[in-house]
Order: sequence, then C-alpha cells, then structure tokens
Amino acid sequence: MTIQPSNRIQLIQPSPTAALLAHALELKSQGKDIISLVAGEPDFDTPSHIKQAAIKAITTGFTKYTAVDGIPELKQAIYSKFRDQNHLDFGLNQILVSSGCKQSLFNLAQALLNDHDEVIIPAPYWVSYPDIIKLAGATPVILKTDIHQRFKILPQQLQTAITNKTRLFIINSPSNPTGSVYSPDELAALAEVLLKHPQVIIATDDVYEHIIWDKPKFHNILTIEPKLYDRTIIINGVSKAYAMTGWRIGYAAGPASIIRQMKKVQSQTTTSPCSISQFAALEALNGDQTCVQDMVQAYKHRHDLVLEYLNSIKEIRCLPAQGAFYLFADISAFLNNQTNFSSDIKLVEHLLLKAGLALVPGSSFGSPGHIRLSFATSETLLKAALNRLKNTLV
Ligand code: PLP
Repeated sequence: MTIQPSNRIQLIQPSPTAALLAHALELKSQGKDIISLVAGEPDFDTPSHIKQAAIKAITTGFTKYTAVDGIPELKQAIYSKFRDQNHLDFGLNQILVSSGCKQSLFNLAQALLNDHDEVIIPAPYWVSYPDIIKLAGATPVILKTDIHQRFKILPQQLQTAITNKTRLFIINSPSNPTGSVYSPDELAALAEVLLKHPQVIIATDDVYEHIIWDKPKFHNILTIEPKLYDRTIIINGVSKAYAMTGWRIGYAAGPASIIRQMKKVQSQTTTSPCSISQFAALEALNGDQTCVQDMVQAYKHRHDLVLEYLNSIKEIRCLPAQGAFYLFADISAFLNNQTNFSSDIKLVEHLLLKAGLALVPGSSFGSPGHIRLSFATSETLLKAALNRLKNTLV
C-alpha cells in the first residue's frame, strides 16, 4: 500500500544539493573514484578551542533542554556581536537561537506567511528558500539575474515585482551560489524601493558574512538603511565561518513581535537548540577569531586557482566571487546541438558518470545554463577536479 503524503509536502522536493551529495557518496561507497565539489560546507575541521568548549559542556553536565530561545550566555554573545561588528542594537528578546540558519528561516516562514502571500527571492538562490516558502503555503516570486548584472537584482526589478500580496523579500550576500556581494550603494538603492512598501518584511541571510575578501567589506541592508529596523530580520549562524555545519546553530534577530512568534514555532518543533552545540557556538563567537581569518585566506587562494582555470576554458565564463566558497560558471556554450547536453542537468550527470566529478547544476538554484563548484576542498582535489572537467568537456 502506498501511503498518500500531504498536499503540502507534495509541493516540495528534497534539497537537490543533499540529494546530489548522497548520490556521489553512494558511488564512492561502490568503489568508484569520485571527486565531489557539491557540499556547501568547509572542509576544515571545527577549531579545537570550540570542540573543547563542547567537551566541557558534556563533562560538566550541560546536557539537558535549554531555554527555547537559547542559553542566556549565547544570546548575550550574539547581542555583543551585533553591537560590535554591525553597530546594531537588538535586545535579548529580539534574538532567537535555532538549530541552524535553515531552522531560523523555517521559523520565520511559519510565523509570518499566510496562504498565497508572495515572497520575492532573487535567483540564483540558495536551494532551500523556495521550498521553505512553499511549505508555509506562500508563493515564491523569483527575480532572475544574470552575469551582466553580476547576479544581483536591480532596484527596478524589485519595484516591479512588489505587489499588494508581497509579504517578504529575501536577500543573501555574500551569495550562495555566486559569491556576489551587494555594495553599500546597491543596498541603499534596494532600501529606497523597500521604504515605499511598508508591508514588505525583509530577511537578510548573512550566513557568509565573515567569508569575504573583496572590498567593500560586509554590509547588510539594515546597516545601510536603519529606517528598515522595524521590519528586518537578520539570519546568521556559526555553520560556515567556524566550520561548524554539523553542530546546527543559527540565530535570528529582528522585531520582538515576530521573534516571539518564531520562538513559538520552535517550542513546538525542536524545543531548543542542542545544549552542547550552544556552548561550542558561544566559544566560537567569544573566542580567538584567527581561525576564521586563516580559513578565509585559504578560500581566497583556492578561489583564484579555480577561477583562473575555469576562465582558461574558452566555452566557460565565470565571474570572480567576492565571498562565500563557490564559483558559479556559465556553461551555456556547451548546451548546443554539437554536444549531447540538452541542459545543465544532463551535463552534470555526464560529468558524474564519465569523469567521476560531482557538481551542482545551475537549475537547482533557479539559473539553468550554469554549474556551481564549491572550492571548500583541498587544492590537490580541486586541481584533479578541474582536469577532469576540462578533459571531459573540451
Ligand atoms: N543560507 C545559505 C545561503 C546557505 O548557503 C546555507 C547552507 O548552505 C544556509 C542558509 C543554512 O545554514 P545552516 O547550516 O546554518 O542551517
């Protein structure tokens, strides 16, 4: 007997990056020689002072449920982080710690959205945004961008997309999958549009805040336009900057009224974030930050290597990334009648089966005709992966 799933769940797909990663791992376990540039996570180990804090939490007995919104010490550290690094003032009742940024976004969608509300998402987008929105009954409205606009939306596009059904606008900078970063001027221009539409709430996903190497340094829309304070929710976490993807700690900060509702969602789903991980995250935020600088330096080095190689292939066009650890390359020149690739998905399948190279097709991010390569892996593997790519396609 097949059990019929809910109508709601039929609207969404499993995360395509997770599915691709699982496929690559399955082939590897069958003894196939696979290089995967799929995972959106650092290859570095979690720094040892952070692990030690977790071990101490275990040995001293911090192994029980915590307050729904997180331990007071961690909330205080998040408060100080916003004050010192972003010059933003959030009270402790405006901060909610969750099990990863993904849960923060899920909480927000459940707490805010009604059926048929529209949510504006610039593409290419992080794969989970549309499905989190659909699961809340709302409708994603995708704004396409391309290489000519450096994968960033223009104010006119935002203006045109806003209707009286628009409830939320999501912005992610540095971006997964492109590594693009919005400049202060670009953020100011988007803010100008948003100021005209007071019904639109803004979610700024800053999870790659610290993984940035280009000038100008990191800004989000709220640091540029403080008038948006009453309707902006910042999503951030320790997963990427501190190589802590498996610890599952993210946080949200914004208006107390919406944070209270998000906390309600969390209290009825996961109760509280993991107690041990919260102590690890506390050490990540308060401890020595040189680990972050060291990792960012390594990403930049790898970025330069991969970018140069990609652009040495005449059919490929790739912009430099300014942050995060991905490159998003235009491979549309390979999608024509002379090749057998009718789509980026077919090309990626071919690379996996013929060359043992796992990548993510641009279609997964709402931008067909591209591939995403994660360079959060060793230079040796990156060089081998790039050779496989070239030898198979050219
Ligand atoms: N937001 C973006 C843009 C991401 O790329 C990711 C992970 O890939 C997340 C959120 C989720 O982060 P977390 O692991 O903290 O749930």
